[in-house]
This record gives sequence, structure tokens and C-alpha cells, in this order.
Amino acid sequence: MAKKDNLTEALKKHFGFGTFKGNQRAIIENVLAGNDTFVLMPTGGGKSLCYQLPSLMMQGTAIVISPLIALMKNQVDAMRNFSEEDGVAHFINSSLNKSAIDQVKDDIRSGRTKLLYVAPESLTKEENVEFLRQVNISFYAVDEAHCISEWGHDFRPEYRRIRPIINEIGKRPLIALTATATPKVQHDIQKNLGMIDASVFKSSFNRSNLYYEIRPKTANIDREIIKYIKSNEGKSGIIYCLSRKKVEEFADILKANGIKALPYHAGMDSQQRSSNQDAFLMEKADVIVATIAFGMGIDKPDVRYVIHYDIPKSLEGYYQETGRAGRDGGEGQCIAFYAYKDLQKLEKFMQGKPVAEQEIGKQLLLETAAYAETSVCRRKVLLHYFGEEYLEDNCGNCDNCLNPKKKVEAKELLSAV
Ligand code: ADP
Ligand code: MG
Repeated sequence: MAKKDNLTEALKKHFGFGTFKGNQRAIIENVLAGNDTFVLMPTGGGKSLCYQLPSLMMQGTAIVISPLIALMKNQVDAMRNFSEEDGVAHFINSSLNKSAIDQVKDDIRSGRTKLLYVAPESLTKEENVEFLRQVNISFYAVDEAHCISEWGHDFRPEYRRIRPIINEIGKRPLIALTATATPKVQHDIQKNLGMIDASVFKSSFNRSNLYYEIRPKTANIDREIIKYIKSNEGKSGIIYCLSRKKVEEFADILKANGIKALPYHAGMDSQQRSSNQDAFLMEKADVIVATIAFGMGIDKPDVRYVIHYDIPKSLEGYYQETGRAGRDGGEGQCIAFYAYKDLQKLEKFMQGKPVAEQEIGKQLLLETAAYAETSVCRRKVLLHYFGEEYLEDNCGNCDNCLNPKKKVEAKELLSAV
């Protein structure tokens, strides 16, 4: 039974949920107490609520820094659905015209607005800094905080300007949130945001409902994937390819084979892209063939498989991309195709880049290769990468545990003597 206290009541009142998930309660209490807070929680764990609920319970407006316009829009729409009050959540970004911005500012001044979402590009604009200096700010939330780190899977240089800008606008408590838990990224974030002393809340990153498998990539790969999709008819799946060209090509191949598939990559015009995304969300398409541009913030709970046509550039990216399967807790199959020559290709792509970046890129690739080639439990290796120890000997849900490669144990050698 949930405790009947103020927090639980507020949760019920504002969001209609009966209980907190994971360590949401402890996190929210820490934010309400005015402390700096660092949250490491896997995708789907419920990070948004950790700043949304306190913002509604505190005086002033919480400034939420979030990397993508699409993400902001989804979140603001969701908040507005929850709330009866107008203007409880707003965003400022380049898509708004002058009169829309004036409306937002009026709502903030009136105290109605509890959450203001901004992209770092907008936050650093002089006119916005000027405006925010006059606003009563409850706290700052930095969502997708791994964007700060070059070791993260989605580095954005603008994210490094957040701390100086916050100092200019006015210091308030900070909550940083990410689903990227490698120790390097964690350290970068805390250092860059000046929150080394923050209380850290780290949840387990194990997704026990996800099945992990690596398959050798052969000339037969297209047929293999088609067969897989057909044996999973009616289920939703994502296929990640490294290049836009491959995305287009493979989506066409699937279509030619009678599969309802659509492409998605950042080179498509934005209307086509969002219409393909919607078609996938509304289940008019079963399969989306995409580059990694697809997925951040997309909450389709019943994706049943994620296939990597090419080996990803980092284990972190792999974890995030596979994490889009089985968000409802149901089955999620994660199959990646691996060929050593793909690694070489990736390494070659990096050659034009600055040396430091190449070094990071190579290190990340090596870690991915080690994962692909291991005969150890995949879950154990993945979690170890996130600084987490997985204690079971057999996870029962990866290729290496279900079909152990024949190993000659020292014991067997001895007994043979
Ligand atoms: P994250 O940002 O960690 O990936 P979200 O904040 O998008 O996760 O939340 C994932 C889903 O969990 C959302 O659909 C959200 O409404 C739901 N959720 C969050 N907290 C709770 C809760 N306490 N009870 C039930 N559902 C929750
Ligand atoms: Mg989130």
C-alpha cells in the first residue's frame, strides 16, 4: 500500500498515478529540499516526473533544458493534458513567432507557468537571458544531460554553455537527468554542471525483458531479416542502419517484399519524417528503418524488436537503441549483425575528424567489438560497462546464456587426466 501523504496525493492529483516508480520519491524529496540532484535512470524509468511534480508543488517556474524541439513539444502537450490550468507548461524555441512568445512571457509573469522548456540554443540567446533574469525560477532541470559529454552518445557543444548561462541568469538548484550511465559520462556531467556534490540517484540499468543476440553478418543478411520480420508479423520493430542511403535502400527492399516499412533519417524533409514517425506510432507501418536520428524521446511502448543492420558506434548507443524495445515490460528482441569489416569501415569514416575525437571514437568502437565477440553473458558485459555488477551466472535471455559456446573448463581437463 502506498503511504497516504502529501507527495502521493500530489502525484495522484496531478498525474493520476497511484504510486511512485523506482526511486522517484526519494529524488523528488531531494529536489523539493532544494538540493542539487543527479539522476541516472534507464529510458522509460520515469525521469520527467522527477522534475515535473516538484515544479507543480513549488513557487516559481522550473526551467527545463531539453535538446530537441520534438521532445519539448511532446512533454508540454502531455503536461497540458494532465492539467486543467492554461499555460502550466510552455516552451520557447525557434518555431514560435513573436505573439506566441509574448503569450508565453505573460503566462510566466503571471505565475501560471510552472515549467518552461528551452533548448540550450534558445537559453543562451541574449533576449531570453534578459527575460529570465526577471523570472522567479524554482530550479533548473537539465534533461538528457549526457549531451554535455563527448563520451555520451549524443554530444552537443551547446550543452557545455548551460552552466555559465545559469550563473548569468541566477543560480538555483539543479537537477540533471540522463539514461547514460557510464562512469566517464557521469563524471563529465557533474564536473561541467558544477554539481560534484549533488546527491546521486542511480537505478539499475538491467532490462530483464530484453533478449540480446549478436549474429554474424553475411551476404544473406537481407533475407535473414525479411524472414525474421515475416515470422513476427503484426509486431512493431525498428531496424537501425548506419547510413541514410542504406536506410532508403533497405526500406525499399522490405516494401518490395510486402512488408509495411518506412524510412526515417535526418536527411529527409521534416514533414515526411514526422509523417513516417506518426505512421509507425499509429501502427500504419510495422517497421521503421532508421538511422540513430530516430528514437530519442519516442515512447512507443510495444516495440517488439530492434535490429541493428550495422554494428553501432558505441555500446552506449547500442544500449539506448535496443532500449526502445519492450518499454511496456513485454518481450523485446535485440539482434545485432556484426562483421569485423564493418568496424574497419567505421574507423575509416573517422579519419577526417580531429585526432582527439578519433581517439574517443576508436575506444568506443573497441568496446563495442569486445561486446560483439564475447562469449560471456551479454547482459553482464553491458551492465559492467555501466559500472553495474550483474551477479547471476546465467541471465537466461541472451544468446550466450541460452546457447553457451563450448568452452573447455579446467575442471574437465583435470577429470580427463
Ligand atoms: P524517461 O524520461 O525516464 O525515459 P518518461 O519520463 O518519459 O521516462 O516516463 C516513461 C513513462 O512512464 C511515461 O509514460 C510516464 O507517464 C510513465 N510514468 C512515470 N512515472 C510514473 C508513475 N509513478 N506511475 C506510472 N507511470 C509513470
Ligand atoms: Mg526522458
